[in-house]
Amino acid sequence: MSFSNLGLSPKVLSAVTAAGFETPTPIQEKAIPVAVTGRDVLGIAQTGTGKTASFALPMLTRLERGRARARMPRSLILEPTRELAAQVAETFEILGKDHKLTVALLIGGVSYDDQDRKLDRGADVVIATPGRLLDHFERGKLLLNGIEILVVDESDRMLDMGFIPDIERICKLLPFTRQTLFFSATMPPEIQRLADNFLHTPERIEVSPPATAATTIVQRLKKAPDDPAGKRQALRELMREVDVKNAIIFCNRKKDVGVLFRSLQRHGFSVGALHGDMDQRQRMATLDAFRNGTIAFLAASDVAARGLDIPDVSHIFNYDVPIHPEDYIHRIGRTGRAGREGFAAMLVTPKDIKALKAIERMLHQEISWIDGALTQEEMVEGERYERGNGRRRRGGRSRDQKRPSGQNGQHAARSGSPDAHKPAGHAVPPKARDERRNDPKRDQHKHHVKPSHGGHGAADRPKAQPQAPRQKQRGMGDHVPAFMMRPVRVP
Ligand code: AMP
Repeated sequence: MSFSNLGLSPKVLSAVTAAGFETPTPIQEKAIPVAVTGRDVLGIAQTGTGKTASFALPMLTRLERGRARARMPRSLILEPTRELAAQVAETFEILGKDHKLTVALLIGGVSYDDQDRKLDRGADVVIATPGRLLDHFERGKLLLNGIEILVVDESDRMLDMGFIPDIERICKLLPFTRQTLFFSATMPPEIQRLADNFLHTPERIEVSPPATAATTIVQRLKKAPDDPAGKRQALRELMREVDVKNAIIFCNRKKDVGVLFRSLQRHGFSVGALHGDMDQRQRMATLDAFRNGTIAFLAASDVAARGLDIPDVSHIFNYDVPIHPEDYIHRIGRTGRAGREGFAAMLVTPKDIKALKAIERMLHQEISWIDGALTQEEMVEGERYERGNGRRRRGGRSRDQKRPSGQNGQHAARSGSPDAHKPAGHAVPPKARDERRNDPKRDQHKHHVKPSHGGHGAADRPKAQPQAPRQKQRGMGDHVPAFMMRPVRVP
């Protein structure tokens, strides 16, 4: 199959050749012929599959006819993060170099002035994050009733970030007779409902089953201790063991990105940091430095995991096991792109066993360990930690449940950073959790808990280690208040 059979215009075909694309990827092969005819597309595809070009190329072909009017853009692409939006704008620059179309990038963290000027001039393509788009709309700088083509990209990420109410609002502001191209890596029920509401008899195109990792990625695990210094040492060993050209190192928390970044710098690694608390300019500068090889390593939070196209990343290191299994797919999807070989290694501490099992269940495969799996004792320790956590979480959201969507998530996402939303299951902040774990009173309490008599799931849990019998403490435990020690006079 070649690009010339997909219905693209000669001008677009020459841009494809100039970009060095020889054969269409599966999503391009299936989506482009449908999208050029003006039909709706429901594309289930991960990043790294060439999905950006699968909507950009037919859009460019269709936008060749007609002109934009002031403040009335002709097409709209919604992206969940600023980085993704900026990246899609770059793709339009490359593929639309002969089209002389006006592309307006409407993202937060930068001034309104340039964006206003682009809109005033008349934008053919608006690429926006939902919050900033609505801000422009509310300021009266933008009319949405001229939109001919809508792209909703990374819809499941939009859901995670609480953007669904914004997307619904935006869709209602658009003309009914438009083309909608809707993409998502997975199809949870909320996304299916959104697609059912806003797409008209779409062509459903699925290029790989949800939650599968590219087969070109070699995945490995390395056991690591729980203490941060030991864990960082294990990471350094990993970074030196394998033949790394460049790598992204993922942490679950922004705070740890900073700590790891400074530690790696001290140890002489060429490293940058990327997380949602940095301003847009810093993030872009760091990404550029990583792209052009000025820095070889990038310590990052999940803000960098989805969609960022940094070609040729040789390695991914997961410093933390991601809390949500699907984040694992997105993280390791930064390597092994466009058919290249990739390598992804993850540090696993005893406390991560449950999260690791969830990932392996999702992948339908066990990941090999680099030098020896966790021992049985370590597994038992991890299971015990998890059971302790489960008790504290009772009544709250469990670790495996979905991230919040709707108002709270929306607020977090709109109030600044794309990874401002906290992962579910952290009702108790990690520090407080650790403090509670070390609290001797908590242990005393533990001994009041009735022994389990083999409820749900008890069979596959390792047996508890025998414990030395301890005297039960009631009320105030070992502590006897001074007033009770005073001699009592018996009348
Ligand atoms: P995406 O999934 O859109 O993030 O694209 C992933 C990477 O694949 C990007 O670096 C694209 O430039 C590249 N790419 C997209 N389509 C093709 C193609 N047909 N041939 C080669 N590379 C491609």
